[in-house]
Amino acid sequence: MGDEFQGGCYCGALRYRVSAAPVLKAECHCRACQHISGGGPNYFMLIPPEGFAYVEGELKQFKRPDLPNAVTRDFCALCGTHILSRRPGLPQLVLKVGTLDDPEVYGGPKIAIFCEEKAGFHVIPDGVPAFDTLPEKRQ
Ligand SMILES: [Zn+2]
Ligand SMILES: [Zn+2]
Repeated sequence: MGDEFQGGCYCGALRYRVSAAPVLKAECHCRACQHISGGGPNYFMLIPPEGFAYVEGELKQFKRPDLPNAVTRDFCALCGTHILSRRPGLPQLVLKVGTLDDPEVYGGPKIAIFCEEKAGFHVIPDGVPAFDTLPEKRQ
């Protein structure tokens, strides 16, 4: 399927392989992503689940019980690096770019989302369409 790349957590215990082309490359400015990213936008790629597999290591998952439509977050059981999230109603996995062996595979965001929650110091790259929440409907 063309693209094939790998990645993993900070400590190296949890490893994954991607064998499908990303559906979307974007950045999210929402508050939840700021918590997890370290304060900046969260750079991510949407990956079809059939093209994603963990190949090594122990996975843990977390889902906030106090939210009606909470995402499920996958992270390394040892070092806690957040790998991806699974959003209810979204068929693809939301893979965090920082966990790629070669982050340049990302190439940059095509859109910026949830900009209504962005911090004043976030900079959206020139020419990247910015949405208050999500784009109307992606095909
Ligand atoms: Zn780890
Ligand atoms: Zn977000």
